[in-house]
Amino acid sequence: MGSITLQNVSKSFGEAAVIPSIDLQINDGEFAVFVGPSGCGKSTLLRLIAGLEDVSGGRILIDGVDATAKPPSQRGLAMVFQSYALYPHMSVRSNIGFPLKMAGVDKAEIDRKVSDAARILNLTDYLERKPRQLSGGQRQRVAIGRAIVRSPECFLFDEPLSNLDAALRVNMRLEISQLHQQLGATSIYVTHDQVEAMTMADKIVVLNKGRIEQVGSPLELYHKPANIFVAGFIGSPK
Ligand code: ADP
Ligand code: MG
Repeated sequence: MGSITLQNVSKSFGEAAVIPSIDLQINDGEFAVFVGPSGCGKSTLLRLIAGLEDVSGGRILIDGVDATAKPPSQRGLAMVFQSYALYPHMSVRSNIGFPLKMAGVDKAEIDRKVSDAARILNLTDYLERKPRQLSGGQRQRVAIGRAIVRSPECFLFDEPLSNLDAALRVNMRLEISQLHQQLGATSIYVTHDQVEAMTMADKIVVLNKGRIEQVGSPLELYHKPANIFVAGFIGSPK
């Protein structure tokens, strides 16, 4: 359940080969972090996995099944973005339940799943509030809640904390790591922040110009960087 395999995946926008070819295995239950400088293709790769962009070539397997042609809704993934994109006029309850309502789930079931998500995310006392009545961290939790209610096998996070202040970021990192373990999900987390990568990841994928420079645990990358780029990015002299 929840493994993700990329086989020779490529992506071009017009003439620009943003991702020439990537092979990657992310195992069930793993917390993988894609790290690399701005513009290196992290979001594009995540969007390909989510099905929000079509690949130019190659295959994407989810749970060992070819998902390359599947629409996003059939991939069993949930994506959490940097901008929370909450509905300002809706309560927290309605925001979290919205994906289920759209999927035609009945009200009792929605109420139950929203309550469960709220409990996990410490939002139980805030369910009747509007997003503007919440702190930045609480808003980001609502966005995560909206991802949780669909019980995905895999979470895709695209720089979810970059709009939060430093202290809150540290807290939310911990919360996301705990959530990942609690739900037994597979997670892919995109960031340009080395500290986030080093503290959260089971597996770090270092990207540069649409290519993988190295894949390894935080310790492997720290002690045995494959090249100067990785060494510079992880912050350890080679
Ligand atoms: P990152 O998330 O690592 O900052 P992106 O994946 O957003 O990088 O972008 C990688 C490259 O692909 C950039 O050069 C960007 O301009 C280009 N790119 C991304 N999306 C599109 C698009 N829809 N059309 C054209 N170029 C794009
Ligand atoms: Mg990006």
